[in-house]
Amino acid sequence: MSDPLANSYYAATAHEWRPRSGIRGDARCDVAVIGGGFTGLSAALACAERGFSVILVEAGHVGFGASGRNGGQLIPGLRWNASELEEEFGSERADALFDLCWRANRVKARIAKHGIDCDLKAGHLEAAWTPKDFDAMRREAGYLATRFGYESEVVAKADMAAHVATPLYHGGIHDPQGGHFHPLNYAIGLAHAAEAAGVSIWESQRAYQMVNTIDGLSVLTDWADIDARYVINATDSWIGEVEPDLGRYTVPIMNYNIATAPLANADALLPSDAAVADSRFVLNYFRLSADKRLIFGGGERYSQTPPRDIAAFVRPFMAQVFPQIADTKIDFGWGGAVAVTMNRLPHIGRDGNIFYAHGFSGHGALVTTLAGELIAEAMAGTAERFDVLANLPSRPFPGGKWLRRPLATLGLLWYALRDRLG
Ligand SMILES: Cc1cc2nc3c(=O)[nH]c(=O)nc-3n(C[C@H](O)[C@H](O)[C@H](O)COP(=O)(O)OP(=O)(O)OC[C@H]3O[C@@H](n4cnc5c(N)ncnc54)[C@H](O)[C@@H]3O)c2cc1C
Repeated sequence: MSDPLANSYYAATAHEWRPRSGIRGDARCDVAVIGGGFTGLSAALACAERGFSVILVEAGHVGFGASGRNGGQLIPGLRWNASELEEEFGSERADALFDLCWRANRVKARIAKHGIDCDLKAGHLEAAWTPKDFDAMRREAGYLATRFGYESEVVAKADMAAHVATPLYHGGIHDPQGGHFHPLNYAIGLAHAAEAAGVSIWESQRAYQMVNTIDGLSVLTDWADIDARYVINATDSWIGEVEPDLGRYTVPIMNYNIATAPLANADALLPSDAAVADSRFVLNYFRLSADKRLIFGGGERYSQTPPRDIAAFVRPFMAQVFPQIADTKIDFGWGGAVAVTMNRLPHIGRDGNIFYAHGFSGHGALVTTLAGELIAEAMAGTAERFDVLANLPSRPFPGGKWLRRPLATLGLLWYALRDRLG
């Protein structure tokens, strides 16, 4: 798959990964995984650890999708606050969701277990765009502390300089359990671990259909059919191409990142080295790389066509937060599709022996590894924890194949406008 958006800092600093070829000739396994992002790689690895034979097919290369090009921000939880989850679903489900999505940091566990070298750093700051946002953040931090014993630091506006060198924000919450990492090197590390556990990874191989056979399922790919007992569809933004019905649950929103040249004053910009995301609907998010570049994400496009010059598109957002580096050199600009659901909760489930997990709505760097592991757990016969995520409510976007995107875009534009109106 060629990719006009691949000029990323991550691709330029990726650890060695020799392209794997595609399969020619038919194959058979217990589990066929479609998609080599965090979800597919994590699921493949966890299935192999449980003794299943696994083949993973990836249309591009490992980490080709959102997993290899995201902001690298590790933000505990889901897109909903824990208090919203409790209000909506009751205390028992809130407990279960909290244990999985806030407490169980499976990314950290995988990095430690497999010795994955991916520049992992601790600390995430949520920065308030308005005083009202700060009040809401403070309330939520208090709720997390009293209800779950989850500790974070409330940072008053006057103390924000300890974390971020801009007067723009009205306070924030520093969460030491969050952090940041080099996402492509994490994906490559997971892929190496999966291969070591026995997974066969086939790249440049697109799956285009799943069919039922007498003994199970068959995944039809460019050059081979893969017969399997179970299939895991981990194709996120592309899920509708393999299963049109699942494609109704997400719309892909293009989001862009830049990496500056290494900065002499990097530590002055982000003194605590936390990753920062602000509370705007179309948020700004940024952090330092291991070699002291500012990696900055900002601005969404509701059209699939990328801006002609990504650096020029993102620079004004960066300059608004950090006017002191407004004219700094930008070495890389890239983008990717964020698969967003109607309610911003991931859409996870199973249909017979086909499992799927997609639509992490910009909050997938941590939860995808967990989701992959829960799929393997359910496949091995214990579905309680999988069901906690699979029972989250979900609704398809209205509008059918042609109107879905324009209607969703209208809704998103409205929220983006509210940002600008303050
Ligand atoms: C620019 C950007 C910034 C982001 N920043 C953050 C962040 O800072 N923090 C955070 O938590 N989340 C962030 N996200 C979201 C996060 O990256 C995703 O939620 C997560 O990576 C999804 O992982 P995945 O494995 O489900 O999907 P993907 O990583 O997209 O993987 C799907 C894979 O399936 C492959 N595929 C598709 N169709 C087929 C097919 N037919 N056959 C075979 N293979 C196929 C694709 O090539 C792709 O590699 C960001 C996303 C983007 C795009």
